[in-house]
Amino acid sequence: MAHVDSDCVFCQIIAGKIPCAKVFESKTCFAFLDIAPVNAGHALVLPKGHYPTLMDIPAELGNDLLHALSVVGKAIMDVTKADGLNLMQNNYEAAGQLVNHAHYHLIPRFSDDGLRLWEQTSYTDSDEMQRLATKIADLVK
Ligand code: AMP
Repeated sequence: MAHVDSDCVFCQIIAGKIPCAKVFESKTCFAFLDIAPVNAGHALVLPKGHYPTLMDIPAELGNDLLHALSVVGKAIMDVTKADGLNLMQNNYEAAGQLVNHAHYHLIPRFSDDGLRLWEQTSYTDSDEMQRLATKIADLVK
């Protein structure tokens, strides 16, 4: 039985206590349309268990989540006739996470929708980039 947080809006949606526009459900995953879409058809895919961020999701759910993302993403593209699809995921408030139950945004995109999802910057030099990569790689287990 997946861990549930009774104060979590997404746990309440999964439990059927708050209505949603559901598009997918499996034993471990759930998906529904975002109430404030970037483009119509924008969906949220999530594990049923209450895991606050990406880094809390057990690796064993990886296959189920990837399957859910793939089938829901394909259906969104077919139905909306989208030209592309963004997969986005926010972790912690500083990154824009509003709901404390890890979830993936699937956003249908259109060649003429005019959206720019993020600005990019650059490293001062390749040494700085390589030093940072080494520090991160050393911590990856
Ligand atoms: P995030 O900022 O990544 O935490 O995204 C949370 C998303 O949940 C936002 O895009 C909201 O529009 C969406 N959202 C919040 N409450 C509901 C709800 N009751 N039904 C559908 N989407 C919701």
